[in-house]
Amino acid sequence: MSHGDGDHERYAHYVQKDKIMASALDGTPVVALCGKVWVPGRDPKKYPVCPMCKEIYESMSAGGDKDKGGKDGKDGGKK
Ligand SMILES: [Zn+2]
Repeated sequence: MSHGDGDHERYAHYVQKDKIMASALDGTPVVALCGKVWVPGRDPKKYPVCPMCKEIYESMSAGGDKDKGGKDGKDGGKK
């Protein structure tokens, strides 16, 4: 009864948006952040977010924001 990756089907994985749109058009599987090859469902909101994808996504956005310039350099002199 075990298919190995069955649990992955119960999660909503993070996938790049343009890939999701392409998948929605022709139904091809996409590769999630965690590496899972997955066909996004019609109702991803009814599934819990894949913990692995979430971790990867959060570490990605944390690193990416650094270059955006949200530092205290602007108001630094006021203190
Ligand atoms: Zn995942």
